[in-house]
Order: sequence, then C-alpha cells, then structure tokens
Amino acid sequence: MIKLVIATKNRGKVQEIRGLLGIGALKNVEVLSLVEMPTIGQPRETGKTFSENARIKAVYYAGVFKALCIADDSGLAVDVLGGRPGVRSARYAGEGASDERNNTHLLEDLNPHPRPWKAAFVCVAACALPGRVVAETTGRIGGEILPAPRGAGGFGYDPLFLVEGTGKTMAELPTEEKNRISHRGQAIRQMIAELKNQGILG
Ligand code: IMP
Repeated sequence: MIKLVIATKNRGKVQEIRGLLGIGALKNVEVLSLVEMPTIGQPRETGKTFSENARIKAVYYAGVFKALCIADDSGLAVDVLGGRPGVRSARYAGEGASDERNNTHLLEDLNPHPRPWKAAFVCVAACALPGRVVAETTGRIGGEILPAPRGAGGFGYDPLFLVEGTGKTMAELPTEEKNRISHRGQAIRQMIAELKNQGILG
C-alpha cells in the first residue's frame, strides 16, 4: 500500500484532486490530505516562482509523513503587470487579504493600462518522496481580466477572469466545467499520468 498525501488544507482542492485520482481507479494507494490534520505545521513559501513553492511544500510534507506527496502552487499572471500578482496572488492586497480586496487592488493597478488586460491562471504541481522531487507539471489557462466582476461561483479572481473562448468568467462556469479546463486540473492530470509512467502509481 502506497501512502499519498495531498499537501493542502483547502477542501475544494482536495476534493478536486481526489476526483482526478479516482478517475484512473488507482490500486494500492491510500490518499490522505492536510484537511484531516489541521494542526500540522507548514513550510514558509519563500520561492519566487510557482515551481519553487510547489517543490518546497512537496518536499517538506514528504519528509514529515515519509510518504509520496503532491503539492501545488498557483496564481494569476497578468501580462501588462509583468506576471503579477503571480506567487503573491493570495496576498496581493496585503497579508491575509480577502478575495474582494485582492480583486479591487488588481483593478486599481490595471486602471491606467489600456484593455484588453490579457492574463493567465497558472498552476505548478510537484510530487516528492522524502528528500527528492520526482515530478513537476504545469497547467495554464488563458483569458483576460474584466473591469467588473461577473458570476457567483469559484473563488479568488474567478469573477474577474474571462476564460478565453467561452465568453464566460471562471465564476460563471459550472464547477465540473472549471475543473475540466482549469490550470489545476491540467497540472494534476499530467502529474497522475507522469507518476503512472514512472511506475510510482499503479
Ligand atoms: P494557492 O495555490 O492555493 O496558494 O492559490 C494562490 C492564490 O491564487 C489564491 O488565493 C487565489 O487568489 C489565486 N488563484 C489560484 N487558483 C485560482 C483559481 O482557480 N481561481 C481564482 N483564483 C485562483
């Protein structure tokens, strides 16, 4: 039996990743997540890139649990802002800022620039065994930032993010549709394929 830890306390992410793991009907894998361990410590996310932060988390929890561990780091990258908010997406308007404040801050920063405000959601997933990263994958979805929010679903910057080719914001898409096309869905699906390829998952 392999122990696989999903390194996040975010219930939505855990559910999404469990769903993706389930699709391939993995044998001999026990899946755990940090949701079941709310008091567990966490590493400082000191990386300057999504990749560095995903690797920091994967290696940290693989060491703590002596298990295979998948971590991800994600955020919004806006072209005209040189890729910001990037790794600072969760705390763009300050440490512990609400989604609403981050969204307002983003629109203030974009206001002087002409539209369209091209952007992408990016997610890097890293998988580690104790002491070493075994795989890294990236997912990306393009779109543009709208000047006012639309839709009630999702979280974070979803209501401001018009998904390329759909005419809808991420917050207007049904959850299953978002998961199917999202940066995180892409990165995790690639990760599962890669781990199967390497014979780490059966
Ligand atoms: P983390 O990967 O959970 O640290 O997410 C970082 C931040 O990026 C979140 O707090 C959101 O602000 C933003 N973000 C990441 N993925 C999404 C998404 O799918 N929709 C909206 N915002 C997102």
